Amino acid sequence: MCGIIGYVGTSDVVPILLEGLRRLEYRGYDSAGLAVLTPQNRLVVLKEAGKIAALEALLNGSTPRGSCGVAHTRWATHGAPNQVNAHPHVSKALDIALVHNGIIENAALLKKGLQERGYPFRSETDTEVLVHLIDEAFQRNASLEDAVAAALLQVEGTYGIAVVSLRDPGKIVAARHGSPLLLGVGEGETLVASDAAALVARTRNVVYLSDGDVAVLTPEGFTTFRLDGTSVSRPVHRIEWDLGAIEKGGFPHFMLKEIFEQPAALRDVLRGRLLLGEGSSRLGGLKDHEAQLAEIQRIVITACGTSWHAALLGELMLEEMARIPTEVEYASEFRYKNPVL
Ligand code: GLU
Repeated sequence: MCGIIGYVGTSDVVPILLEGLRRLEYRGYDSAGLAVLTPQNRLVVLKEAGKIAALEALLNGSTPRGSCGVAHTRWATHGAPNQVNAHPHVSKALDIALVHNGIIENAALLKKGLQERGYPFRSETDTEVLVHLIDEAFQRNASLEDAVAAALLQVEGTYGIAVVSLRDPGKIVAARHGSPLLLGVGEGETLVASDAAALVARTRNVVYLSDGDVAVLTPEGFTTFRLDGTSVSRPVHRIEWDLGAIEKGGFPHFMLKEIFEQPAALRDVLRGRLLLGEGSSRLGGLKDHEAQLAEIQRIVITACGTSWHAALLGELMLEEMARIPTEVEYASEFRYKNPVL
């Protein structure tokens, strides 16, 4: 669950995208990238593993010019956190670019079909199926928004997406289901973001999208319709908070915000990792070590502060479910002991 920012207007887009990404940085991420539609009708995509500063270093000296683009900070769920898996992802002919927050549950099945129909996959992400589905849907649909809607009808899972294309330039198409997304409506410019904090430097007029909404953004404004094609109108709200308060989500301080965020935070870390149908889980990092894990006879958890309290709960759960003796040690004391391990 990471960050999206998109802009279409008349200003130089790259500084706006980078500023938006920095506003999303507090959420944590493992890579960042952006796509810009240039006035010469080229699509420039730049992405890098690591911090936004690494993306900026990549841009150094060769910043693409344009006034329409999308950007992303990724928190990997499918595939390693590296440059290839970073977003945006692009179509075969490099004429569609897409950023995505969330998880496509039926990605494996969709990928198999797309590969059989000749779509090459470059990354290990679930996201890449979306861009090829949109590419394919363009054969039957004239506009980017119709192609996006047709593609999304095949998808199960959660998404907030922002898409640009050379085949239908001058606009961003955004859609959401289960991942937050809102629009910013400025003077001669329109933005999309996963978090109000990324927008307010440019406008305080925002539109909250609902699950199943598709939005078309142009410099003049926006239109919204439902995935089934029926049009729907979404009201513009005015954000009165300052930036600090927006980052605190309306709570008086961060600690309270984080306490209230716990249900959503838990849902986010488990998303895509619980296989309810199989009564099991998919824990990427542990899968390769199953034999070693089965031999564990004792567990020592070292932690401090909040993580120490979480570890106490972990101790109870590990002993109850795995029947492996578990102890919790203060990490700050542990390093001065001569523990029996
Ligand atoms: N599931 C996607 C990926 O692994 C998106 C992750 C995100 O929300 O940042 O690339």
